[in-house]
Amino acid sequence: MLYGIPGTIGGAIRMNAGAYGDEFKDIVVSSVYLDQNLTLHEIKNPDHKFNYRYSRFIKNKNDIIISTTLQLHNENKEKIKSRMDQNKKAREEKQPIEFPSAGSTFKRGKEFITAQLIDGSGLKGYSIGDAYVSQKHAGFIINKGKATAKDVLMLIDTIKRKVYDKFNVNIELEIEVIGED
Ligand SMILES: Cc1cc2nc3c(=O)[nH]c(=O)nc-3n(C[C@H](O)[C@H](O)[C@H](O)COP(=O)(O)OP(=O)(O)OC[C@H]3O[C@@H](n4cnc5c(N)ncnc54)[C@H](O)[C@@H]3O)c2cc1C
Repeated sequence: MLYGIPGTIGGAIRMNAGAYGDEFKDIVVSSVYLDQNLTLHEIKNPDHKFNYRYSRFIKNKNDIIISTTLQLHNENKEKIKSRMDQNKKAREEKQPIEFPSAGSTFKRGKEFITAQLIDGSGLKGYSIGDAYVSQKHAGFIINKGKATAKDVLMLIDTIKRKVYDKFNVNIELEIEVIGED
């Protein structure tokens, strides 16, 4: 499940990262975090308030995850290897991992597949500066050279507007914008 998701454990717990039907919420037993008064707390799985790409750490921005205990599932070595290979192959075939990106730009919808709406709005290959809507997977914004944060943010606005105009659907960001131009 974790194979192919770039990042650290802290970031992955904060956003409840997941892929191919598994999420961090399924393997976290407990975490220790430091609050802004430098007090340590240990919380169990339910106290993380995990949801789709959400945990309590999104709301409590000043808390820093120090450590986590994970409970992995026991499985046959060959079976694990074959699942890892399958996931790797699927990523290579379906995602533009040959270009820099922040991963999937928008959250999956409950009643729609966001990448299909972006594709259906004629946006595959659309670009602002060097920021492109990937031809391979419309859910990814890729950098084909010297894209700036401003290019990416303008492209995000354009995608949201065009999808809304065509499908009357508001799509939500999965990535987190940390205010810069
Ligand atoms: C090619 C590609 C494919 C991807 N595929 C997937 C996928 O399949 N599934 C998926 O879920 N994601 C996917 N992602 C997104 C990626 O997993 C996230 O960017 C990553 O999990 C964030 O972790 P990070 O360590 O990079 O955190 P950062 O980007 O450094 O931080 C993310 C947030 O977490 C906070 N944070 C980081 N560490 C801590 C800590 N210790 N305590 C408290 N807060 C902390 C930061 O302050 C920040 O707000 C993909 C990304 C790429 C580029």
